[in-house]
Amino acid sequence: MTDTSPNLARLGDAARDFIARGRGLFIDGEWRQRDAQIEVFDPATAKRVTSVPRGNAADVDLAVAAARRAFDEGPWAKMTPADRGKLVWRLGDLVERHADELAELEAIDNGKPVTDARWGDVAFSHELLRYMAGWSTKLTGETIPLSQPAPFHAYTLREPVGVCAQIVPWNFSFMMAIWKVAPALATGCTIVLKPAEQTPLTALRLAELVEEAGFPNGVFNVVTGLGEEAGAALAAHDDVDKVAFTGSTEVGKKILEAAKGNLKKVSLELGGKSPMILFADADLDVAIPAIASGIFYNMGQTCTAGSRLYVEDSIADAVHEALAEHAQGLRIGPGLDPATQIGPLVSAEQQAKVLGYIQSGVGDGARLLCGGRHHGDDGYFVEPTILADTAPHMAVVKEEIFGPVLVSATFADGDVASAVREANDSIYGLAASVFTQDIDKAHAVAKRIKAGTVGINTHHVIDPALPFGGFGQSGWGREMGWSAIELYTELKSIGVALKR
Ligand code: ADP
Repeated sequence: MTDTSPNLARLGDAARDFIARGRGLFIDGEWRQRDAQIEVFDPATAKRVTSVPRGNAADVDLAVAAARRAFDEGPWAKMTPADRGKLVWRLGDLVERHADELAELEAIDNGKPVTDARWGDVAFSHELLRYMAGWSTKLTGETIPLSQPAPFHAYTLREPVGVCAQIVPWNFSFMMAIWKVAPALATGCTIVLKPAEQTPLTALRLAELVEEAGFPNGVFNVVTGLGEEAGAALAAHDDVDKVAFTGSTEVGKKILEAAKGNLKKVSLELGGKSPMILFADADLDVAIPAIASGIFYNMGQTCTAGSRLYVEDSIADAVHEALAEHAQGLRIGPGLDPATQIGPLVSAEQQAKVLGYIQSGVGDGARLLCGGRHHGDDGYFVEPTILADTAPHMAVVKEEIFGPVLVSATFADGDVASAVREANDSIYGLAASVFTQDIDKAHAVAKRIKAGTVGINTHHVIDPALPFGGFGQSGWGREMGWSAIELYTELKSIGVALKR
Protein backbone atom coordinates (compact mmCIF):
# COMPACT_ATOMS: atom_id res chain seq x y z
CA MET A 1 0.00 0.00 0.00
CA THR A 2 2.94 2.38 0.29
CA ASP A 3 3.91 2.33 -3.40
CA THR A 4 3.20 5.51 -5.27
CA SER A 5 0.26 5.44 -7.66
CA PRO A 6 1.27 5.16 -11.33
CA ASN A 7 -1.63 7.50 -12.12
CA LEU A 8 0.46 10.41 -10.84
CA ALA A 9 2.12 10.25 -14.26
CA ARG A 10 -1.27 11.03 -15.88
CA LEU A 11 -1.56 14.36 -14.07
CA GLY A 12 -0.71 17.56 -15.87
CA ASP A 13 2.25 19.64 -14.67
CA ALA A 14 0.11 22.01 -12.61
CA ALA A 15 -1.53 19.25 -10.55
CA ARG A 16 1.79 17.46 -10.10
CA ASP A 17 3.48 20.70 -8.98
CA PHE A 18 0.71 21.29 -6.47
CA ILE A 19 1.21 17.84 -4.94
CA ALA A 20 4.97 18.41 -4.86
CA ARG A 21 4.45 21.65 -2.90
CA GLY A 22 3.25 19.46 0.01
CA ARG A 23 0.89 22.00 1.50
CA GLY A 24 0.06 21.95 5.20
CA LEU A 25 -2.80 23.40 7.19
CA PHE A 26 -3.86 26.87 6.02
CA ILE A 27 -4.37 29.08 9.06
CA ASP A 28 -4.37 32.88 9.18
CA GLY A 29 -2.87 33.11 5.71
CA GLU A 30 0.07 30.81 6.54
CA TRP A 31 0.89 27.22 5.68
CA ARG A 32 1.65 25.16 8.76
CA GLN A 33 3.24 21.74 8.67
CA ARG A 34 2.55 19.01 11.22
CA ASP A 35 4.37 15.75 11.94
CA ALA A 36 1.17 13.75 12.24
CA GLN A 37 -0.03 12.99 8.71
CA ILE A 38 -2.91 11.31 6.89
CA GLU A 39 -2.07 9.27 3.81
CA VAL A 40 -3.93 10.10 0.61
CA PHE A 41 -4.61 7.18 -1.75
CA ASP A 42 -5.62 6.92 -5.41
CA PRO A 43 -8.83 4.85 -5.38
CA ALA A 44 -8.13 3.55 -8.90
CA THR A 45 -4.95 1.76 -7.78
CA ALA A 46 -5.11 1.72 -3.95
CA LYS A 47 -1.63 3.28 -4.07
CA ARG A 48 -0.31 6.38 -2.35
CA VAL A 49 -0.62 9.90 -3.78
CA THR A 50 0.74 12.03 -0.93
CA SER A 51 -0.01 12.87 2.69
CA VAL A 52 -1.53 15.89 4.45
CA PRO A 53 -1.42 17.04 8.08
CA ARG A 54 -3.68 15.37 10.58
CA GLY A 55 -4.91 18.56 12.25
CA ASN A 56 -6.12 18.20 15.83
CA ALA A 57 -8.16 20.16 18.36
CA ALA A 58 -5.27 22.57 19.02
CA ASP A 59 -5.10 23.35 15.29
CA VAL A 60 -8.83 23.92 15.26
CA ASP A 61 -8.38 26.41 18.14
CA LEU A 62 -5.76 28.30 16.12
CA ALA A 63 -7.91 28.37 13.00
CA VAL A 64 -11.05 29.45 14.84
CA ALA A 65 -9.09 32.21 16.63
CA ALA A 66 -7.78 33.44 13.26
CA ALA A 67 -11.28 33.39 11.78
CA ARG A 68 -12.60 35.25 14.84
CA ARG A 69 -9.96 37.99 14.54
CA ALA A 70 -10.62 38.35 10.83
CA PHE A 71 -14.36 38.60 11.46
CA ASP A 72 -14.19 41.08 14.35
CA GLU A 73 -11.22 43.29 13.60
CA GLY A 74 -9.61 42.79 10.25
CA PRO A 75 -10.00 44.58 6.93
CA TRP A 76 -12.68 42.03 6.01
CA ALA A 77 -15.05 43.46 8.62
CA LYS A 78 -14.68 46.95 7.13
CA MET A 79 -14.71 45.98 3.47
CA THR A 80 -17.55 47.35 1.35
CA PRO A 81 -20.00 44.78 -0.01
CA ALA A 82 -18.89 45.73 -3.53
CA ASP A 83 -15.25 44.96 -2.81
CA ARG A 84 -16.21 41.72 -1.10
CA GLY A 85 -18.28 40.72 -4.11
CA LYS A 86 -15.35 41.48 -6.43
CA LEU A 87 -13.09 39.17 -4.41
CA VAL A 88 -15.62 36.34 -4.58
CA TRP A 89 -15.99 36.87 -8.33
CA ARG A 90 -12.19 36.87 -8.70
CA LEU A 91 -12.08 33.55 -6.86
CA GLY A 92 -14.60 32.22 -9.38
CA ASP A 93 -12.33 33.39 -12.20
CA LEU A 94 -9.34 31.66 -10.61
CA VAL A 95 -11.28 28.42 -10.20
CA GLU A 96 -12.20 28.56 -13.89
CA ARG A 97 -8.63 29.37 -14.90
CA HIS A 98 -7.35 26.33 -12.98
CA ALA A 99 -10.32 24.10 -13.77
CA ASP A 100 -8.37 21.34 -15.53
CA GLU A 101 -5.91 21.08 -12.67
CA LEU A 102 -8.67 21.03 -10.05
CA ALA A 103 -10.52 18.34 -11.99
CA GLU A 104 -7.40 16.18 -12.17
CA LEU A 105 -6.76 16.55 -8.45
CA GLU A 106 -10.35 15.57 -7.74
CA ALA A 107 -10.06 12.57 -10.06
CA ILE A 108 -6.92 11.17 -8.44
CA ASP A 109 -8.15 11.91 -4.92
CA ASN A 110 -11.76 10.72 -5.14
CA GLY A 111 -11.55 8.43 -8.18
CA LYS A 112 -14.32 10.13 -10.14
CA PRO A 113 -14.15 10.52 -13.94
CA VAL A 114 -12.07 13.59 -14.74
CA THR A 115 -14.55 14.66 -17.41
CA ASP A 116 -17.36 14.73 -14.82
CA ALA A 117 -15.10 16.57 -12.39
CA ARG A 118 -14.22 19.21 -14.99
CA TRP A 119 -17.69 19.81 -16.45
CA GLY A 120 -19.70 18.92 -13.35
CA ASP A 121 -17.98 19.69 -10.05
CA VAL A 122 -15.56 22.43 -11.10
CA ALA A 123 -17.72 24.19 -13.70
CA PHE A 124 -20.63 24.32 -11.26
CA SER A 125 -18.31 25.69 -8.60
CA HIS A 126 -17.05 28.71 -10.51
CA GLU A 127 -20.58 29.57 -11.58
CA LEU A 128 -21.80 29.29 -7.99
CA LEU A 129 -19.02 31.62 -6.82
CA ARG A 130 -20.10 34.17 -9.43
CA TYR A 131 -23.77 33.74 -8.57
CA MET A 132 -23.06 34.31 -4.86
CA ALA A 133 -20.71 37.23 -5.60
CA GLY A 134 -23.75 39.03 -6.97
CA TRP A 135 -25.58 38.77 -3.65
CA SER A 136 -22.83 40.63 -1.74
CA THR A 137 -24.23 44.00 -2.75
CA LYS A 138 -27.87 43.03 -2.25
CA LEU A 139 -28.01 42.06 1.41
CA THR A 140 -30.58 44.66 2.31
CA GLY A 141 -32.89 44.92 5.29
CA GLU A 142 -36.37 46.41 5.24
CA THR A 143 -38.16 49.31 6.81
CA ILE A 144 -41.10 47.91 8.71
CA PRO A 145 -44.36 49.75 9.41
CA LEU A 146 -45.12 48.91 13.05
CA SER A 147 -48.34 47.54 14.49
CA GLN A 148 -48.11 49.13 17.93
CA PRO A 149 -48.76 52.81 18.51
CA ALA A 150 -45.19 53.54 19.76
CA PRO A 151 -43.52 56.24 17.64
CA PHE A 152 -40.67 54.13 16.35
CA HIS A 153 -38.96 54.18 13.07
CA ALA A 154 -37.99 50.51 12.61
CA TYR A 155 -35.80 48.72 10.14
CA THR A 156 -33.84 45.50 9.77
CA LEU A 157 -30.21 44.87 8.94
CA ARG A 158 -28.95 41.62 7.46
CA GLU A 159 -25.55 40.79 8.95
CA PRO A 160 -23.08 37.91 8.52
CA VAL A 161 -23.56 35.13 11.06
CA GLY A 162 -19.86 35.09 12.02
CA VAL A 163 -17.26 32.33 12.20
CA CYS A 164 -18.44 29.31 10.21
CA ALA A 165 -17.22 25.74 10.53
CA GLN A 166 -17.75 23.91 7.27
CA ILE A 167 -17.36 20.14 7.30
CA VAL A 168 -17.61 18.49 3.91
CA PRO A 169 -17.63 14.93 2.54
CA TRP A 170 -15.52 13.10 -0.03
CA ASN A 171 -18.07 12.49 -2.80
CA PHE A 172 -17.94 15.98 -4.36
CA SER A 173 -15.13 17.35 -2.22
CA PHE A 174 -14.47 20.57 -4.11
CA MET A 175 -18.05 21.35 -5.07
CA MET A 176 -19.40 20.70 -1.57
CA ALA A 177 -16.76 23.04 -0.19
CA ILE A 178 -17.77 25.76 -2.68
CA TRP A 179 -21.49 25.28 -1.88
CA LYS A 180 -20.60 26.41 1.63
CA VAL A 181 -17.67 28.75 1.04
CA ALA A 182 -19.33 30.86 -1.67
CA PRO A 183 -22.33 32.13 0.35
CA ALA A 184 -20.22 32.49 3.51
CA LEU A 185 -17.71 34.72 1.72
CA ALA A 186 -20.40 36.66 -0.11
CA THR A 187 -22.11 37.53 3.17
CA GLY A 188 -18.89 38.50 4.98
CA CYS A 189 -18.50 35.48 7.26
CA THR A 190 -15.17 33.85 8.01
CA ILE A 191 -14.50 30.16 7.55
CA VAL A 192 -12.72 27.12 8.90
CA LEU A 193 -13.12 24.38 6.30
CA LYS A 194 -12.50 20.72 7.08
CA PRO A 195 -12.42 18.48 4.02
CA ALA A 196 -12.98 14.74 4.33
CA GLU A 197 -9.88 12.77 5.30
CA GLN A 198 -10.20 10.68 2.11
CA THR A 199 -10.13 13.70 -0.23
CA PRO A 200 -8.27 16.73 1.17
CA LEU A 201 -6.40 17.91 -1.94
CA THR A 202 -8.76 20.33 -3.67
CA ALA A 203 -9.53 22.16 -0.40
CA LEU A 204 -5.81 22.93 -0.07
CA ARG A 205 -5.62 24.04 -3.69
CA LEU A 206 -8.65 26.24 -3.00
CA ALA A 207 -6.73 27.86 -0.12
CA GLU A 208 -3.96 28.77 -2.56
CA LEU A 209 -6.52 30.35 -4.88
CA VAL A 210 -8.08 32.26 -1.98
CA GLU A 211 -4.60 33.61 -1.21
CA GLU A 212 -4.06 34.53 -4.86
CA ALA A 213 -7.44 36.27 -5.07
CA GLY A 214 -6.36 38.55 -2.22
CA PHE A 215 -8.71 37.72 0.65
CA PRO A 216 -7.42 39.06 3.98
CA ASN A 217 -5.63 36.62 6.28
CA GLY A 218 -7.88 34.55 8.52
CA VAL A 219 -11.00 34.87 6.35
CA PHE A 220 -10.56 31.36 4.99
CA ASN A 221 -8.75 28.60 6.87
CA VAL A 222 -8.38 24.90 6.11
CA VAL A 223 -7.75 22.23 8.72
CA THR A 224 -7.28 18.80 7.21
CA GLY A 225 -7.85 15.96 9.65
CA LEU A 226 -10.06 13.17 10.85
CA GLY A 227 -13.77 13.55 11.42
CA GLU A 228 -13.81 12.44 15.02
CA GLU A 229 -10.78 14.60 15.80
CA ALA A 230 -10.64 17.90 13.85
CA GLY A 231 -14.27 17.65 12.72
CA ALA A 232 -15.66 16.97 16.18
CA ALA A 233 -13.54 19.78 17.68
CA LEU A 234 -14.91 22.23 15.11
CA ALA A 235 -18.54 21.20 15.59
CA ALA A 236 -18.23 21.58 19.36
CA HIS A 237 -16.16 24.79 19.38
CA ASP A 238 -17.65 27.54 21.54
CA ASP A 239 -16.31 30.34 19.36
CA VAL A 240 -17.87 29.01 16.16
CA ASP A 241 -21.17 30.74 15.34
CA LYS A 242 -22.40 28.31 12.71
CA VAL A 243 -21.62 24.81 11.55
CA ALA A 244 -22.54 23.68 8.05
CA PHE A 245 -22.24 19.98 7.39
CA THR A 246 -22.72 17.68 4.42
CA GLY A 247 -22.34 13.96 5.03
CA SER A 248 -24.09 10.96 6.46
CA THR A 249 -27.24 11.25 8.55
CA GLU A 250 -25.46 9.37 11.33
CA VAL A 251 -22.64 11.94 11.55
CA GLY A 252 -25.16 14.77 11.07
CA LYS A 253 -26.79 13.74 14.34
CA LYS A 254 -23.37 13.84 16.05
CA ILE A 255 -22.79 17.34 14.68
CA LEU A 256 -26.10 18.43 16.13
CA GLU A 257 -25.21 16.96 19.51
CA ALA A 258 -21.79 18.64 19.48
CA ALA A 259 -23.25 21.98 18.37
CA LYS A 260 -25.70 22.27 21.23
CA GLY A 261 -23.08 23.49 23.76
CA ASN A 262 -23.18 27.06 22.44
CA LEU A 263 -26.33 26.63 20.34
CA LYS A 264 -24.44 27.55 17.21
CA LYS A 265 -26.55 27.68 14.07
CA VAL A 266 -26.64 24.35 12.24
CA SER A 267 -27.33 23.46 8.63
CA LEU A 268 -27.22 19.84 7.55
CA GLU A 269 -27.27 18.23 4.13
CA LEU A 270 -27.50 14.52 4.83
CA GLY A 271 -28.31 11.19 3.25
CA GLY A 272 -30.95 10.18 0.77
CA LYS A 273 -32.68 7.21 -0.79
CA SER A 274 -34.28 9.06 -3.64
CA PRO A 275 -37.13 7.46 -5.59
CA MET A 276 -37.68 7.63 -9.34
CA ILE A 277 -41.23 6.87 -10.54
CA LEU A 278 -41.51 5.68 -14.12
CA PHE A 279 -44.98 5.63 -15.68
CA ALA A 280 -45.83 3.59 -18.75
CA ASP A 281 -46.59 6.74 -20.75
CA ALA A 282 -43.04 8.12 -20.33
CA ASP A 283 -40.73 8.73 -23.28
CA LEU A 284 -38.25 5.92 -22.65
CA ASP A 285 -35.61 7.51 -24.89
CA VAL A 286 -35.50 10.29 -22.30
CA ALA A 287 -36.21 8.22 -19.19
CA ILE A 288 -33.68 5.37 -19.57
CA PRO A 289 -30.53 7.53 -19.79
CA ALA A 290 -31.89 9.91 -17.13
CA ILE A 291 -32.58 7.03 -14.73
CA ALA A 292 -29.18 5.46 -15.44
CA SER A 293 -27.45 8.76 -14.78
CA GLY A 294 -29.70 9.29 -11.75
CA ILE A 295 -28.13 6.27 -10.08
CA PHE A 296 -24.75 5.74 -11.75
CA TYR A 297 -23.44 9.34 -11.92
CA ASN A 298 -20.45 9.60 -9.56
CA MET A 299 -20.77 5.83 -9.06
CA GLY A 300 -23.91 6.39 -7.02
CA GLN A 301 -21.89 8.22 -4.38
CA THR A 302 -24.31 11.10 -4.58
CA CYS A 303 -26.66 12.11 -1.81
CA THR A 304 -29.41 12.69 -4.39
CA ALA A 305 -28.74 9.41 -6.25
CA GLY A 306 -31.96 7.98 -7.69
CA SER A 307 -31.45 4.70 -5.92
CA ARG A 308 -35.04 3.35 -5.86
CA LEU A 309 -36.96 2.84 -9.10
CA TYR A 310 -40.73 2.29 -9.13
CA VAL A 311 -41.84 1.23 -12.60
CA GLU A 312 -45.36 0.65 -13.90
CA ASP A 313 -45.95 -3.06 -14.38
CA SER A 314 -46.70 -3.19 -18.10
CA ILE A 315 -43.31 -1.74 -19.10
CA ALA A 316 -41.16 -3.26 -16.31
CA ASP A 317 -39.53 -6.03 -18.37
CA ALA A 318 -38.62 -3.75 -21.27
CA VAL A 319 -37.30 -1.09 -18.88
CA HIS A 320 -35.17 -3.56 -16.93
CA GLU A 321 -33.67 -4.89 -20.13
CA ALA A 322 -32.89 -1.40 -21.43
CA LEU A 323 -31.41 -0.25 -18.12
CA ALA A 324 -29.23 -3.36 -17.80
CA GLU A 325 -27.97 -2.86 -21.34
CA HIS A 326 -27.19 0.77 -20.60
CA ALA A 327 -25.40 -0.13 -17.35
CA GLN A 328 -23.30 -2.80 -19.04
CA GLY A 329 -22.29 -0.33 -21.74
CA LEU A 330 -20.79 2.15 -19.31
CA ARG A 331 -17.03 2.34 -19.55
CA ILE A 332 -15.25 1.47 -16.31
CA GLY A 333 -11.73 2.77 -15.74
CA PRO A 334 -9.47 5.08 -13.78
CA GLY A 335 -10.91 8.55 -13.23
CA LEU A 336 -7.94 10.17 -14.97
CA ASP A 337 -8.78 8.51 -18.28
CA PRO A 338 -11.01 11.08 -20.06
CA ALA A 339 -13.07 8.25 -21.61
CA THR A 340 -14.01 6.76 -18.23
CA GLN A 341 -17.68 6.90 -17.25
CA ILE A 342 -17.49 4.77 -14.10
CA GLY A 343 -14.48 5.20 -11.83
CA PRO A 344 -13.66 3.38 -8.61
CA LEU A 345 -15.46 3.99 -5.33
CA VAL A 346 -13.56 6.20 -2.93
CA SER A 347 -12.12 3.57 -0.59
CA ALA A 348 -11.77 -0.11 0.22
CA GLU A 349 -14.24 0.44 3.04
CA GLN A 350 -16.84 1.87 0.68
CA GLN A 351 -16.27 -0.92 -1.83
CA ALA A 352 -16.75 -3.59 0.85
CA LYS A 353 -19.88 -1.86 2.14
CA VAL A 354 -21.47 -1.65 -1.32
CA LEU A 355 -20.63 -5.28 -2.22
CA GLY A 356 -22.06 -6.32 1.16
CA TYR A 357 -25.33 -4.54 0.36
CA ILE A 358 -25.56 -6.27 -3.02
CA GLN A 359 -25.11 -9.64 -1.32
CA SER A 360 -27.72 -8.79 1.27
CA GLY A 361 -30.20 -7.79 -1.45
CA VAL A 362 -29.70 -11.07 -3.31
CA GLY A 363 -29.90 -12.94 0.00
CA ASP A 364 -33.22 -11.22 0.72
CA GLY A 365 -34.61 -12.45 -2.60
CA ALA A 366 -33.90 -9.61 -5.05
CA ARG A 367 -33.10 -10.57 -8.64
CA LEU A 368 -29.70 -9.46 -9.95
CA LEU A 369 -30.18 -7.98 -13.44
CA CYS A 370 -26.59 -6.88 -14.03
CA GLY A 371 -23.33 -6.13 -12.26
CA GLY A 372 -22.99 -7.26 -8.69
CA ARG A 373 -19.22 -7.74 -8.53
CA HIS A 374 -16.06 -5.79 -8.02
CA HIS A 375 -14.26 -4.94 -11.23
CA GLY A 376 -10.58 -5.54 -12.02
CA ASP A 377 -7.75 -6.51 -9.70
CA ASP A 378 -6.64 -3.08 -8.52
CA GLY A 379 -8.55 -0.24 -6.99
CA TYR A 380 -12.02 -0.03 -5.52
CA PHE A 381 -14.24 -0.63 -8.54
CA VAL A 382 -17.79 -1.97 -8.36
CA GLU A 383 -19.83 -2.79 -11.46
CA PRO A 384 -23.01 -0.81 -12.07
CA THR A 385 -25.65 -3.04 -10.51
CA ILE A 386 -29.43 -3.39 -10.78
CA LEU A 387 -31.55 -5.43 -8.37
CA ALA A 388 -35.16 -6.09 -9.43
CA ASP A 389 -38.12 -7.56 -7.53
CA THR A 390 -37.14 -5.72 -4.37
CA ALA A 391 -39.54 -5.30 -1.45
CA PRO A 392 -39.94 -2.49 1.10
CA HIS A 393 -38.53 -4.46 4.05
CA MET A 394 -35.15 -5.15 2.39
CA ALA A 395 -32.09 -3.28 3.69
CA VAL A 396 -31.15 -2.40 0.09
CA VAL A 397 -34.47 -0.55 -0.24
CA LYS A 398 -34.45 1.18 3.14
CA GLU A 399 -30.81 2.15 3.61
CA GLU A 400 -28.53 4.48 1.69
CA ILE A 401 -25.98 2.31 -0.14
CA PHE A 402 -23.96 5.19 -1.62
CA GLY A 403 -22.78 3.10 -4.53
CA PRO A 404 -23.78 2.18 -8.11
CA VAL A 405 -26.74 0.04 -7.07
CA LEU A 406 -30.29 0.59 -8.32
CA VAL A 407 -33.15 -1.26 -6.61
CA SER A 408 -36.30 -1.66 -8.64
CA ALA A 409 -39.90 -2.56 -7.78
CA THR A 410 -43.09 -2.42 -9.83
CA PHE A 411 -46.53 -0.96 -9.19
CA ALA A 412 -49.83 -2.06 -10.74
CA ASP A 413 -50.84 -0.34 -13.96
CA GLY A 414 -52.63 2.92 -13.24
CA ASP A 415 -52.07 2.76 -9.48
CA VAL A 416 -50.56 6.22 -9.03
CA ALA A 417 -51.41 6.28 -5.33
CA SER A 418 -49.38 3.17 -4.60
CA ALA A 419 -46.39 4.51 -6.56
CA VAL A 420 -46.48 7.71 -4.50
CA ARG A 421 -46.92 5.79 -1.25
CA GLU A 422 -43.92 3.55 -1.96
CA ALA A 423 -41.81 6.50 -3.05
CA ASN A 424 -42.61 8.36 0.16
CA ASP A 425 -41.90 5.32 2.36
CA SER A 426 -38.46 6.48 3.53
CA ILE A 427 -36.89 8.31 6.45
CA TYR A 428 -35.16 10.49 3.84
CA GLY A 429 -36.52 13.16 1.53
CA LEU A 430 -33.74 14.72 -0.49
CA ALA A 431 -34.65 14.24 -4.14
CA ALA A 432 -37.06 12.37 -6.41
CA SER A 433 -38.11 12.17 -10.03
CA VAL A 434 -41.20 11.43 -12.06
CA PHE A 435 -41.17 10.23 -15.65
CA THR A 436 -44.37 10.67 -17.66
CA GLN A 437 -45.64 12.61 -20.67
CA ASP A 438 -48.92 13.39 -18.92
CA ILE A 439 -48.46 16.96 -17.69
CA ASP A 440 -51.27 16.76 -15.12
CA LYS A 441 -49.92 13.56 -13.60
CA ALA A 442 -46.36 14.92 -13.59
CA HIS A 443 -47.23 18.00 -11.53
CA ALA A 444 -49.73 16.22 -9.30
CA VAL A 445 -47.20 13.53 -8.38
CA ALA A 446 -44.36 16.05 -7.97
CA LYS A 447 -46.52 17.89 -5.44
CA ARG A 448 -47.25 14.74 -3.43
CA ILE A 449 -43.65 13.54 -3.22
CA LYS A 450 -41.88 14.32 0.04
CA ALA A 451 -38.53 15.59 -1.17
CA GLY A 452 -36.56 18.83 -1.32
CA THR A 453 -36.08 18.58 -5.09
CA VAL A 454 -38.24 16.79 -7.64
CA GLY A 455 -37.27 16.30 -11.28
CA ILE A 456 -39.85 15.80 -14.01
CA ASN A 457 -38.44 13.72 -16.86
CA THR A 458 -34.96 14.20 -15.40
CA HIS A 459 -33.38 13.24 -12.11
CA HIS A 460 -30.47 15.43 -11.01
CA VAL A 461 -31.81 18.97 -10.75
CA ILE A 462 -29.27 21.43 -9.36
CA ASP A 463 -28.53 25.04 -10.11
CA PRO A 464 -26.72 27.86 -8.24
CA ALA A 465 -30.04 29.72 -8.01
CA LEU A 466 -32.24 26.81 -6.90
CA PRO A 467 -32.70 25.93 -3.21
CA PHE A 468 -31.28 22.51 -2.39
CA GLY A 469 -31.87 20.48 0.76
CA GLY A 470 -33.91 17.78 2.35
CA PHE A 471 -37.18 16.86 3.99
CA GLY A 472 -37.15 14.40 6.89
CA GLN A 473 -33.79 12.97 7.91
CA SER A 474 -32.12 14.37 4.78
CA GLY A 475 -31.27 17.54 6.63
CA TRP A 476 -31.97 21.05 7.82
CA GLY A 477 -31.87 24.16 5.70
CA ARG A 478 -31.49 24.89 2.00
CA GLU A 479 -28.23 25.66 0.24
CA MET A 480 -27.86 27.73 -2.94
CA GLY A 481 -30.07 30.54 -4.15
CA TRP A 482 -31.25 33.17 -1.69
CA SER A 483 -31.81 30.37 0.85
CA ALA A 484 -28.05 29.99 1.26
CA ILE A 485 -27.72 33.69 2.02
CA GLU A 486 -30.29 33.24 4.78
CA LEU A 487 -28.22 30.40 6.24
CA TYR A 488 -25.18 32.68 6.55
CA THR A 489 -26.87 35.84 7.83
CA GLU A 490 -28.65 37.04 10.95
CA LEU A 491 -31.47 39.56 10.90
CA LYS A 492 -31.27 42.45 13.31
CA SER A 493 -34.26 44.70 14.07
CA ILE A 494 -33.54 48.30 14.99
CA GLY A 495 -36.10 50.68 16.46
CA VAL A 496 -35.51 54.41 16.69
CA ALA A 497 -37.63 56.26 19.25
CA LEU A 498 -38.95 59.36 17.51
CA LYS A 499 -39.67 62.56 19.45
CA ARG A 500 -42.66 63.33 17.22
P1 ADP B 1 -19.07 9.17 4.99
O1 ADP B 1 -19.78 8.31 5.99
O2 ADP B 1 -19.73 9.20 3.69
O3 ADP B 1 -17.58 9.02 4.99
P2 ADP B 1 -19.22 11.19 6.88
O4 ADP B 1 -20.54 11.73 7.22
O5 ADP B 1 -18.58 10.19 7.79
O6 ADP B 1 -19.31 10.65 5.45
O7 ADP B 1 -18.16 12.35 6.70
C1 ADP B 1 -18.45 13.63 6.20
C2 ADP B 1 -17.52 14.62 6.86
O8 ADP B 1 -17.76 14.60 8.27
C3 ADP B 1 -16.03 14.32 6.71
O9 ADP B 1 -15.32 15.55 6.59
C4 ADP B 1 -15.69 13.65 8.02
O10 ADP B 1 -14.33 13.80 8.37
C5 ADP B 1 -16.56 14.42 8.98
N1 ADP B 1 -16.87 13.73 10.24
C6 ADP B 1 -16.95 12.40 10.47
N2 ADP B 1 -17.25 12.16 11.76
C7 ADP B 1 -17.36 13.36 12.37
C8 ADP B 1 -17.65 13.80 13.70
N3 ADP B 1 -17.90 12.94 14.69
N4 ADP B 1 -17.69 15.13 13.95
C9 ADP B 1 -17.46 16.02 12.97
N5 ADP B 1 -17.17 15.67 11.71
C10 ADP B 1 -17.11 14.37 11.40
